[in-house]
Parts: sequence; C-alpha cells; structure tokens
Amino acid sequence: MNLTRPLAEVIRTTPSHLKKLKEMGISTVEDLLSYYPKKIESTHLTEQGADIIMNEKNSLFGRITHIRKETTPRGKKMVKAAFSLADESLLEVVWFQVPYLLRNMREETSLFLVGKVQRNYGKLQIMNPEIHIADNVHTDSFRPIYAESPPITSKWLREKIQGLILFAKDTPETIPTEVLKAENLFEKPKSLQVIHHPKSSEDWKQARKRLAFEELFIVQTSVLKKKMAAQENHKNLYRFEFDPELVKKDLETIPFELTFAQKRTLFQILKDFEKPERMHRLVQGDVGSGKTIVAFLAALQVIRQGWQVAIMAPTEILAKQHFASALKFFPEKYNIELLTGSVPVSQKKKIKDNLRHGNISVLIGTHALLTEDTVFHQLAFAVIDEQHRFGVAQRALLAESGSHSLSMTATPIPRTLALTVYGDQDLGVIDELPPGRKPPLTKIIAGPAPERQAHLFLDDQIEKGFQIFWICPLIDESDKLELKNVVQEYDRIAQELFPKRRVIFLHGKMKSKEKDSIMEAFKNHEYDILVSTSVIEVGVDIPNATAMVIENSERFGLAQLHQFRGRIGRNDKACYCFLMVGKPDDKNKERLKTMEKSNNGLYLAEVDLKLRGMGEIYGSRQSGMPDLQYADITDTDLMMKAREWAEKVLQKDPQLKGYPGLNRAVEKQDVYLGN
Ligand code: ADP
Ligand code: MG
Repeated sequence: MNLTRPLAEVIRTTPSHLKKLKEMGISTVEDLLSYYPKKIESTHLTEQGADIIMNEKNSLFGRITHIRKETTPRGKKMVKAAFSLADESLLEVVWFQVPYLLRNMREETSLFLVGKVQRNYGKLQIMNPEIHIADNVHTDSFRPIYAESPPITSKWLREKIQGLILFAKDTPETIPTEVLKAENLFEKPKSLQVIHHPKSSEDWKQARKRLAFEELFIVQTSVLKKKMAAQENHKNLYRFEFDPELVKKDLETIPFELTFAQKRTLFQILKDFEKPERMHRLVQGDVGSGKTIVAFLAALQVIRQGWQVAIMAPTEILAKQHFASALKFFPEKYNIELLTGSVPVSQKKKIKDNLRHGNISVLIGTHALLTEDTVFHQLAFAVIDEQHRFGVAQRALLAESGSHSLSMTATPIPRTLALTVYGDQDLGVIDELPPGRKPPLTKIIAGPAPERQAHLFLDDQIEKGFQIFWICPLIDESDKLELKNVVQEYDRIAQELFPKRRVIFLHGKMKSKEKDSIMEAFKNHEYDILVSTSVIEVGVDIPNATAMVIENSERFGLAQLHQFRGRIGRNDKACYCFLMVGKPDDKNKERLKTMEKSNNGLYLAEVDLKLRGMGEIYGSRQSGMPDLQYADITDTDLMMKAREWAEKVLQKDPQLKGYPGLNRAVEKQDVYLGN
C-alpha cells in the first residue's frame, strides 16, 4: 500500500475525527504511523490471582458472575459483579456507569478487564475497568498512551494504528545501514511496530532511541546539506588578507583593551574574509559584552579595501546610538551616514545617490536599508545587530546581496539549538564581560510586604540620585491593551507609589520621534523612573540607572529576563534587579530562583530550554525549529553524534543519491520549515 494515501480512504471514521486529525497534522497513513505514543502503560496480562500486581493496572482474563445493581448509602447508583479467574480467585468489580458492553452480557461470559486492582476490606477490588471481549492491543502486557486531542483518544489511536501497522514494513529507511549497525539501532519498520505495540519495555526503549536519533539525524543532515550548498554557491566576492599590523594599530586607538573573547571573535571574522566562501556568521554575546566594537573593527578593514559596509539595527534609537559611536570610531576620511525612516526625504535621496556612487563607506540604519532603491556601489560586509528582531525574509535580502554577513545577538543560544536552527552559520561567542562590571543583585519579590520593602529601597536609590527602569509585560499584542497596561502601571507608580518622583512612560506604539525624545530626557536625568513595556529596546546606554523592576516576571523566559537586566550594571556601581511575581506559584518561583543564582546567560537559556521546552520559548514552527517528538533538544551528546554521522554520509554522497529514504525525509523537513 502507498503510505501517502489519505487516511480518509483507508480507515472508517467520522468527519469530526478526520477534521481533528488534520489539525494535528495527520492526514496520511504515514502521518498516523509517525504519531508516536508519549509513553507505554504496563497492563500485566494475568489469569492467576497470584500474578496480580496490586495497585497497578492489570489486564485480567476471567468470567463475570453475579451482576447486580446497588445503591450506595449516599444514593449513588452502581453495578457490582464478581469476576473469577482461571484459578477461581475472585475479584469484586464496581462500575458507577453501566458500561455499554455489560448491558447485554450474560453471566459466565469470558472477557478481559483492564484496571487498577486494589484491596478493599480484604477483598480484591477493581473499579470502573475497561471491558474487552477479545485480547487485543488494549489488553496486551504493554500498551501505548498517546497525546489525546478529543475526539482522538488513545483507545481510538491504538485501534486505528493497529489496523495499519502491517504497512510499517513499507516505510523507507532514513538511516544508512552502516549507521544502524555502528549505533546498534532498530530498523525503521521494526521501530514503528515496536513503538506502537511493544512486547517489553526494553524493546520500547530501543525503538524510542532509534526514533529520537532519527529525528536529530535528519535535522543535522538537512542543516549541513544547506551549509554545503551555500559554500558552493556563495563564493567570496570580497576576499582579502587582513594586515595584522594595521589591526594592532587600530586596537591602540580605542580607549580600552579588548577582552580575550572580543579579540578571538574579531580574529575569527578577519579570518573569514580570507576564505574562498563568503562569511555567514552569527556572534552571540550577553548584553554589554561589547559586540559593537568588534563589528566596527572588522568593518574598518573592509572599507580600507575601498568597499562599503552596512550596519543594520532593529530600532531607530539603536541605529542612532551606533551612528554616534561610529562617528567617533572611524577615521574622518571615511564617509559615515545614517538612514532611518525619519530622515527627511530630500536627505534620503542625497544619501542614496551618494551610496550608489560609492561615496559612502559605512551606512548605518534600520529596515530603511532594505528598501529597493537603497543601492550600494559595492556592499562587501553587512552587519545585522540584534538579528532576532529581524524577520527571516529581511535577513535573506541581505544574504542575496553577495556580501559577507555578520549577525549579532544578545539572545543566548544553547549549543544544541545553535547547531540546529543556526546550523548553517558559523558561530562565535563573546562569553566574557569587560572587566569591572558588577552583575546586578537579583531578587524575587512576592507578596505585599516584600513589595513595600522593595519600593522603599527604590525610593532610596532615587534619593541618592539614581534612576530606575520599570518593565511591564505586554499582555496583549493589540495596541489598546498594551497602552492600557502601561498607562495603568504608570498611574500606579506615579500616583500611588512614588507621587514625589518624576515618572514617565514609553510604549511600542509611540512615534519614534516621541520615543527618542523620551529616552533622551531620561538619559538627561529629567526623570527618575522610566516605565515601559518589554517591546521597547532599552538598548541605549544609561549608566545612571542602577535598578530595574520587572513586573509579572514569571511571564518571561529566563534568557529574556537576563537580557533585560543586562541593561543595568554597565559600570562599577552596585545594581539591583527586582523580579516581581504576579501569581506566586512554586514552579515559577523555582525557575526564577535560577535568576538569583546565576548571571550566565547561556546557562540560563539552557535551564529555560529544559524546563519549558522548545515550543514555548522559540515558538517552534515560526522560528525554524523542527517538531521533535522523541529527541531531547538539550541532549548535546546525541546531537553531536547525529551531526558527525550526517557529516560522514554527506561527505561520501553530497546529493544523497544512494539514500533515497534520507533524501526524502530531508526534503520533507525543508518544506516544513519553509526553506
Ligand atoms: P553589546 O554587546 O550589548 O552590543 P556594546 O557593544 O554596546 O555591547 O558595549 C557596551 C559598552 O561597553 C559600550 O559602552 C562599549 O564602549 C563598552 N566596551 C566594549 N568593550 C569593552 C572593553 N573591552 N572594555 C571596556 N569597555 C568596553
Ligand atoms: Mg548591542
């Protein structure tokens, strides 16, 4: 049978079942077979009283006798029956709802009951068991439990999958034979049979292991294949050898010594310029780790070749900050310009003309750099700051230009994830902060009394002449709610909590001019407290702000909280971060406690990933993350193993011609991820 046949043609079911399946992404026979159970349940099949496992689910074969109706002292109706096994051991069976099958049942009928056996005043009792007339997938010693989505239940899935499991033998093998042998893995058909109908829990684990490996292996093969293709197609059009003496001199002109991590990253980038294929690199570094200066130093080498550089930032405020730093950093003979949405039209036109004729060396700006009429003379190097704030399409536009690309992000990316989502890029990490920075003292604040204390403390900070960031989460993406939320918070803070202090607020829907002037005013210490939503890039340096309050901090991921608090603690002053907890619940408090203990962004991101999983943090599909049913995205060892094998296989057979099953899976994945 053809595995791609629509389910509607091969199983008998209702339209509402089919509709739900479709929503679950299941529409073919193959899809259904690839819907793996979450776990298995042991239902020890037993015909002897001595074999019963107490307080666990048992699958019992015996005869039903003495069916009678009773009413409990509280007036609840029930049906009781006696059930005797082959060795005449007796159990009492209680149903509170008369099962359909029992209605027409004669006494002495042999059948299977599945349920938990307990002792009740010395008697063996089983409450509300399932009834099965014949032995089947439900009564075997192990049965699969699936994620349910009504009307699709485990019972329904077990039966339908059982009816199709024969066709598992036709599923194409995706893992090369040599890998199966070396890693001691089940073949695909066997793993499907076992995963849906295991004979032992050992077998089930083996099948699961194979399927988990397969998921990572396909991801890695796809990512590496893409990387290889890029290297072939993306010849380095702007290749040059950097001059170490010149770079050394450049380093002497800046007012501080680069950290080791900055030097290492700069060197990686400069080495990339020399390679036959163009640079496609992602640099990750905590807020304040000094990514900008590294990008500038690399850019300087490029413009010395007579080529152009673009530096793109997600917000106007940030672009302006970069522009101001760039004017200080780059030698005067180079023309540096700023292009954002709010530049007057006539000025824009002038900039674009100059750009086209090669009269601008470094163009800094926002999305405005991506418009069709922004044409570079020779764009050799594109820097994308805070790359996670740009869409895939926007990044692709720059990639098409033929220039080297350097993306920078403060979002800590766990290694396994980096190898997956960003697996086709080279990665660099600036894992060191400039000396003298003190990590902010972080504290969870839950309940009215601690809150009052925190407010007193904050007031004291203001008294001492310092300023405060106050972040509230964006409850809803809609304009109205965002505004309402900040305005409400603002009223509470300005009128109830700090009536004597100067408070101002900022939100994402304001015009950029307005935002800029507020930031400017805050920077000039015209205000003590800045209330804003999390959508605001507080990327502007405000060294006088020593405290940050994050409302409803439980709504944020750890990595995100860490990024927020990176906005303070940018010098040697003592800094404080208060994590306000809206609804204290234990799970969240445990999670947030990690914030108190660690200042390592990467570590926090990994904890987050383990605790909350992919979907919740990175929003699986949109972020280019494949659905993993069995593989643990944080399992570095398995990921590396899958990657090594993928490398070997691709080296031998780059087009995967000899591996049709694998090739098909890789292509399917690429379609799924929208690549
Ligand atoms: P981010 O990595 O968050 O983009 P920036 O590049 O904005 O960080 O740098 C933050 C601040 O640290 C800037 O004011 C920058 O001048 C300063 N800085 C960068 N590198 C160093 C260093 N090695 N020593 C001291 N200060 C540094
Ligand atoms: Mg930055």
